[in-house]
Amino acid sequence: MSRRSLNVRTQLRLFIIGTSALVLAIACSTLYIIGSDVLRENKIDQLTSTVNIVAANAASTLMFEDADAAGDLLRTAVAEDQVLGGIVFAASGEVFAAVRKDGSDDWTPAAPESVEPEITDEFIVVKQKIVKGGVFLGSVALRGNRHNEHLVRRGLVWTSILLAIGLLAVAFVFATQLSKGIALPIARLASTMGLIARERDFSLRVEKTESEGLGDLVDLFNDMLTRLEARDAELASHRLNLESEVDRRTQQLREANDDLVEAKERAEAATRAKSEFLANMSHEIRTPLNGIIGMTEVALDTNLDGEQRDCLETVRESADSLLVIINDILDFSKIEAGRLVLDEQEFNLRDDLCDALRSVEAVARRKGLDLEYVIDREVPERLLGDATRLRQVFLNLLGNALKFTEHGEVVVEVQLVADGTDRQVLEFAVKDTGVGIEASKLDTIFSPFMQADGSTTRRFGGTGLGLAICRQLVSLMGGEIRAESEIGVGSTFRFRASFGRAGNDSDHVIPAALQDAEVIVHGFSRTASRAIRELLGRWTLAPRFCEEPDEVVTMLAEAGPRPRIVLIDLDSRASAEEVTRIRDAARGAGLAVITAATRGRATESLRGTRHIGKPIKESELFDALVECLHAPDTVTGEGPSDSIPDEAPGVARGASGLKILLVEDNRINQKLAMTLLDRWGYRVDLAANGKLAVDRFEHGEHFDLVLMDLQMPVMGGIEATQALR
Ligand code: ADP
Repeated sequence: MSRRSLNVRTQLRLFIIGTSALVLAIACSTLYIIGSDVLRENKIDQLTSTVNIVAANAASTLMFEDADAAGDLLRTAVAEDQVLGGIVFAASGEVFAAVRKDGSDDWTPAAPESVEPEITDEFIVVKQKIVKGGVFLGSVALRGNRHNEHLVRRGLVWTSILLAIGLLAVAFVFATQLSKGIALPIARLASTMGLIARERDFSLRVEKTESEGLGDLVDLFNDMLTRLEARDAELASHRLNLESEVDRRTQQLREANDDLVEAKERAEAATRAKSEFLANMSHEIRTPLNGIIGMTEVALDTNLDGEQRDCLETVRESADSLLVIINDILDFSKIEAGRLVLDEQEFNLRDDLCDALRSVEAVARRKGLDLEYVIDREVPERLLGDATRLRQVFLNLLGNALKFTEHGEVVVEVQLVADGTDRQVLEFAVKDTGVGIEASKLDTIFSPFMQADGSTTRRFGGTGLGLAICRQLVSLMGGEIRAESEIGVGSTFRFRASFGRAGNDSDHVIPAALQDAEVIVHGFSRTASRAIRELLGRWTLAPRFCEEPDEVVTMLAEAGPRPRIVLIDLDSRASAEEVTRIRDAARGAGLAVITAATRGRATESLRGTRHIGKPIKESELFDALVECLHAPDTVTGEGPSDSIPDEAPGVARGASGLKILLVEDNRINQKLAMTLLDRWGYRVDLAANGKLAVDRFEHGEHFDLVLMDLQMPVMGGIEATQALR
């Protein structure tokens, strides 16, 4: 038997015996107390009835002062077993008669004052008054002993003790039996539970013997264990299944991942191959295309009849469009192949932007659109970055804006948004008042080959590559491009780009006289006026804008201490006569006039003024202003400023007899270059690769200039140049 079961049994036994003993003690004590009370009350009752009889009879003895008769009465009372003695007191309190049992002590109490019994351990004294006809005659007291009472009480105690011993013995036997039937199974249950908790072995069972009680409990417990064991086995099998399932899935995922990586690498390789192919193809296509364009130009410079000229101009236009597309594809594939790296050179943002605008100005003029740019005066003049790629982005956005706008204006705005110690961030916006773009297409148009709308595209043409290239270029410049638009109202393309800080912030030193001058501006559109305000603001000049020609004439007539210069827009709504009037008024007042007009626009009013192109270029305006200040009257109507220069002459520029060696392997390029150089009056010799060129120098030939191709068979351009140097 285990210690645990021993403990449980002992505890159970102790509990039963202890409880029985307590119950017995309470019962016996109660019995003893009640028994004692009953015995005492009995004795008092007996003595009281005796004393009452004595008192009733003693009245006459006291009246007749017959002490003997009183003594007889007392003797009759004392004859009873439990009465030890009696005394009759006279009314004065003196003892009238007294009788005591033989052998009892000498009991002489004082006359009683009340009739309450007096109780001590040994005796009980009862008293009564003797009254006759309402007259107090005296009193009587009887003393009884309590010996019998004590005997009975002792008997009670012994009976209780024997009874208790007997009952406890029975309780002991009962407890032993009970503990055997309950404690053993409970102890076994407890130890089995402990074992299961420690070893987590649900196959253990509690042993059951027929003789024990709590058989049902053991059965239920074992039943529970059986179910737990089954569930444990089920869980274990699930876990095993799960592990193998996870392994299987992991394997599948791994395989899928490997497939994906392989597919991704294949796709990347294919993209690279495609981009390289495109880059090479574009290069290969551009060479013959250059030939077509060049030779068409040459042919157009010869004597042609109208129809021939028309045909060749169509060829040139087609070739130009094709070149734009090829250039787009080349750029796009270069960017895709990660081969496009930006250059970082100092450039003049204002002049470069103006040049870009002027290059598309003919389109704007043809469509009757205003083309302007406004650069905030805070924007630095010189910056460090890739001017060519920035210009490419502008040309793309401007090209689109002009393509999709039928009336209104196209405006470029530039602001400085961050001016750090190393880098400066500018925000550019190209705004138009054209057809607009649906909101849902505003993002997709930046994806390659995506166009906002099929029908629009058919109307306007294009490849859908321009904006994709812009987005890539802008991202290379550290910015992002986005579009805002409203159908029928217009579109704005906005982008930010980050530039390095140039060593020298400005190209101009502002003369004091200029700072003092007053510039009267007439006839410019609202946007152009804003641009002029920003431009002149950079040189701390505040222009005065006059809408009406009469107002200008009046203003010119006012004499004033400050030098004045008039700036007139010739493209304005003002008629030629009005402009002439203003010019004459200015000349009359000895003031200088600067006129601005888009290219190719010569008018009568130009005579006697300085002229600058439109959109206004900062450096040109600056030079014109400074010139006017120094010599306001030098322009007389003749000379170079007399008319707006048209297209630059294309032929007979270099007939100086210089001898040139053309090193070029491509037949088309050879022919084109030779023809052009020959037409321009140079003497040209040809070498088909770098090696042949070096040979010619080694044979002592002399050339003033070498035009060297880069990629050639036998010896490339770089190698040949190194050898020549
Ligand atoms: P392309 O002009 O050669 O089709 P882009 O990538 O430059 O390709 O432009 C993609 C499309 O975005 C255009 O086809 C046109 O639908 C739309 N889009 C671009 N710029 C504008 C604009 N300023 N106004 C309206 N639509 C425009």
